[in-house]
Amino acid sequence: MTMNKIIDKAINELPPQKDVAAWVEINTQHLSHNVQFIRAKIGPERQIMAVVKANAYGHGAVEIATYLLNSGVQHLAVATVEEGLELRKAGIKAPILLLNSILPEQISKLLDYQLTPTIYTVAFAEKVSIEAKQRGAELPIHLRLDLASNGLGMLPDQAVYQIKQISRLPHLLIEGIYTHLVSAYRQDAKQVAEDIQSFENVLSSCREELQARGVPIFRHVASSPSILNYPSAYYDLVRAGTCLYGLPSFVNQDGLLLKPVMSVKSRVCDIQYIEKGEMRGYYYSVFPESKVRVATLPIGYSHIPFLLLLKKPQVLIGGQKASAFGPANMSHLFVDVTHLPETRIGDEVVLLGAQGNEKLYAQDIIAETDLDISRCESICFISESIPRFFVK
Ligand SMILES: *Cc1c(COP(=O)(O)O)cnc(C)c1O
Repeated sequence: MTMNKIIDKAINELPPQKDVAAWVEINTQHLSHNVQFIRAKIGPERQIMAVVKANAYGHGAVEIATYLLNSGVQHLAVATVEEGLELRKAGIKAPILLLNSILPEQISKLLDYQLTPTIYTVAFAEKVSIEAKQRGAELPIHLRLDLASNGLGMLPDQAVYQIKQISRLPHLLIEGIYTHLVSAYRQDAKQVAEDIQSFENVLSSCREELQARGVPIFRHVASSPSILNYPSAYYDLVRAGTCLYGLPSFVNQDGLLLKPVMSVKSRVCDIQYIEKGEMRGYYYSVFPESKVRVATLPIGYSHIPFLLLLKKPQVLIGGQKASAFGPANMSHLFVDVTHLPETRIGDEVVLLGAQGNEKLYAQDIIAETDLDISRCESICFISESIPRFFVK
């Protein structure tokens, strides 16, 4: 399938009909808005690397990557070799950077599928170099610095030596050098400045080594919080994850500027009444103090894992909030619609997204859990059994 066919197929699908009981909606206009927002921030000269790991944060990696490459994004990043393979097998030709470390046994797949590894040890670089040589190939690589002692990358005091070693290895092309600015997630401006200075120090000590084929390489530091708050971290390209998807996964972000791309919706599949004092429920019990009206939704935590994090999930029905009677079951959720007498079987229900003037965004849901806002993207990991619709 060609790129455009993937997009056409994805986007020409009609919004879900009445016979779809639960679905994920991907709003491509919001995705474009977020790309334009990033573009306006960083200016026309720099490049954007779309981070589409974890199935594009649950949004659908092949479709999202295809759509973004058509919207002026030049690079992709994924976590694992398998995620890279999925994109290549779908016909995607753009550069794909692997952010995770990989097994020595996976090196041949890098060469088979032109995936760009992140390298931060001389020993691993040697292995890749040997295998590339055997194939008569030259493999682009990116080097990673670890400025936050998070165990992923070269430590600043060893980096210069290591980079000099790696740059001498044949059949490797150092195409990029980067770091993950963890301090930006904490909005720690002082630490951000120090980290950028450490990065600069390494760059200036390795000026010659970092000129693959005489051409300057891509230096990249910024992920979402830096794209929003720290222009000094922009360098040559920015790695955009949560902000592409409109997920404010750190404090202080002006959530109004980005638009959430994913919604999760379902339909009321049954309506019942529970009389005063009657008991219902499996693991929890409902003993209403007066007669209540119950809407049954055909979804549970097996479809929508974030429901498991909530003692009393909320949903939107008829443009208003309604609460479940207790935690979700594996495949059903019972919602109190006593205050919404208009509710009918087949009515649309929003579990993530907006309806009328009400909204339940990922940050609103995460606030009801024990998790930190930095885990906000986990709300978007929805079962593959729920169909995904790309809407304009
Ligand atoms: C996941 C990841 C990103 C994207 O981070 P966001 O905060 O989602 O923008 C960027 N860089 C690296 C190394 C990552 O692992």
